[in-house]
Amino acid sequence: RARADGIGGWSVFENEMGRVADYRQWVESELTDAIDRGDFVLYYQPQLSLKGERIVGYEALIRWQHPERGLIPPNEFIPVAEESGMILQIGKWALHQGCHDACMLPDDTYVAINLSPVQFGDRALTETVRQALEESGLPANRLELEITETAMTMDRIQARKVMASLSEMGVQIAIDDFGTGYSNLSYLMDFTFHKLKIDRSFVCRLQDDDTTGAVISTIVGLSRALGAETLAEGVETADQATLLRAAGCDSVQGFHYARPAPLSTFVDSESAGARLLPRAVGATYH
Ligand code: C2E
Ligand code: MG
Ligand code: MG
Ligand code: MG
Repeated sequence: RARADGIGGWSVFENEMGRVADYRQWVESELTDAIDRGDFVLYYQPQLSLKGERIVGYEALIRWQHPERGLIPPNEFIPVAEESGMILQIGKWALHQGCHDACMLPDDTYVAINLSPVQFGDRALTETVRQALEESGLPANRLELEITETAMTMDRIQARKVMASLSEMGVQIAIDDFGTGYSNLSYLMDFTFHKLKIDRSFVCRLQDDDTTGAVISTIVGLSRALGAETLAEGVETADQATLLRAAGCDSVQGFHYARPAPLSTFVDSESAGARLLPRAVGATYH
């Protein structure tokens, strides 16, 4: 599709579009193999309480370890997997792997796993979660599930039911990227959840003006009124952390504290040896 004479103007655009489409196609065709090969890995990023700056949990962030292309970030394949429906298999794998991994992390921490809106709309979700907990032996209160506002608003009645039943199982529910979606306050009051994750776009602006701090304080107040905690995402500087503490945030996550890294970074190798997951575990769920 690429044209040799494509200098400037429309043909460059065409080339670019062609490349994007080619890459997308490549991703889609490779994903099936990736599932069979067990290419996926979960990286973990610590979440810290602002009181005492202790690690309270770890967010699992999926990466695709492609045999030739190396590590591929989720934004490049999750949307494709969502469109093709493959996200259900990948998501199931992530739930099982995340629960197994959590068993190797300190008992007083949780693992947070991202759910795609597609998974959230899947009738089998609660059963999948129950199985992952059962097979790994992880106590339900050490699992947190992150869902976006968009997922909640797609089918409100279904969403309410799912959130209530997950919550009854003892699983914690966090609303991811809060403040960027379309959920309104009356929606929010209807759902059971335990945490609001304040989107990075708010944290980025904290140092620019006083308004952002005031808005974050308001989100914290709102969250408390609804019986939930708050976590600020994408904290990159000490100044941001200071302002977030002043705004009353409960916990933080971001490059300032730690970047996402393989599980082995967070478990001491001695104890991990004995409790290590057999390499083939991923393959059971394909
Ligand atoms: P998210 O759940 O909002 O995750 C936070 C993203 O922000 C992660 O990107 C993380 O690496 C990045 N991040 C963390 N701290 C900082 C910081 O201080 N500065 C900046 N600039 N970025 C920071 P990542 O790992 O590339 O993941 C992107 C998105 O992919 C996630 O956004 C989530 O929506 C999705 N995702 C990741 N893993 C899974 C998964 O297992 N299943 C599903 N369905 N989606 C996933
Ligand atoms: Mg998340
Ligand atoms: Mg987020
Ligand atoms: Mg985000």
